Amino acid sequence: MIPYLDLPAQYRGIKDEIRAAIDEVLESCQFVLGRAVAAFEQDFAAYCQARYAIGVNSGTSALHLALLAAGIGPGDQVITTPFTFVATVAAIQYTGARPVLVDIDPRSYTIDPAQIERAITPKTRALLPVHLYGQPADMGPILEIAARRGLIVIEDAAQAHGAEYKGRRAGSLGAMACFSFYPVKNLGAYGEGGAIVTSDPEYNRTLRMLRDWGMEKKYEHLLKGFNYRMEGIQGAVLGVKLRHLEAWTEARRAHAARYRELLAPAGIGIPQEMTYARHVYHVYTIRTAGRAQLQERLTEAGVQTAIHYPVPVHLQPAYADLGYHRGDFPHAEKAAGEVLSLPIFPEMTEEQIAAVAECFQTAGAAAQS
Ligand SMILES: *Cc1c(COP(=O)(O)O)cnc(C)c1O
Repeated sequence: MIPYLDLPAQYRGIKDEIRAAIDEVLESCQFVLGRAVAAFEQDFAAYCQARYAIGVNSGTSALHLALLAAGIGPGDQVITTPFTFVATVAAIQYTGARPVLVDIDPRSYTIDPAQIERAITPKTRALLPVHLYGQPADMGPILEIAARRGLIVIEDAAQAHGAEYKGRRAGSLGAMACFSFYPVKNLGAYGEGGAIVTSDPEYNRTLRMLRDWGMEKKYEHLLKGFNYRMEGIQGAVLGVKLRHLEAWTEARRAHAARYRELLAPAGIGIPQEMTYARHVYHVYTIRTAGRAQLQERLTEAGVQTAIHYPVPVHLQPAYADLGYHRGDFPHAEKAAGEVLSLPIFPEMTEEQIAAVAECFQTAGAAAQS
């Protein structure tokens, strides 16, 4: 069997470091925030080429707080795409603002900057591009539109730790960027976790208060805040894993390059690394109109696959209230019906990659015959 990803294999490689780091938290009894979280925040901000990182308890919380720190609330509109994990859109609604959706560029699967301008209204306050699959959105034009129209840019970088746009890291591009450390992400905690990254001292201060009941000093509540704090054990685990992230990312990129060679003859869409991007291949998503048969074939051969995402957010029952309909975002809708994510993880072996590619050739042959 070839798993979609192999977290046990990763753990085996770092077990001693992880256990030592967790032991320190147990000895210190700093279970919430504390030294381990502060140290991780510093290292992660530097990794993202930014000044501050604020550790929180999930990527969703990071999005919620970034939007609140930007002053977004009822009556405001925030622009994002329907081809994302539902949390992006949900977090906008948590603030009381209205999500306004814009279709993707089908080459990159990220928001199409050429379609943003016509979605802007007098109520628009922010742009929330998603660096989907580990590839940054086309930030140049996005930042240009935002500057010209007086909008705040918040990156959804939940899938893009270490990704780069023209040499600049995800997390250093917008006013704020939101990361998830859900266990399967490229940098994953051993539980839930997230962070907001920014270089703005005011946002930093506000976000630190918002995650901890709006306090700077104990029992002095300057803002209406939340219990969104990062746990000490997660900070310790993330601090260890961050030291390995570049090597893991390079391994993912090497696997993607190998897939590219092996899958070239298969007659399917393979991921495009845009000229502006360092893609970190959080997911390796191919594309074919014959997805159902292909996925079945791979499953029979013992290859685990996934679909990111089978239904765009605007067609989800829970988001019918946004008022969109089938046909509103043709590129997102078509992609949702055709994308298939293949196994990719740093510990993947050459044999495993070859074995996945092998069943592609037989699947391709079967489809053609
Ligand atoms: C994972 C993810 C989130 C949410 O992160 P959680 O830590 O699961 O709350 C948000 N946006 C995107 C694009 C994601 O992939």
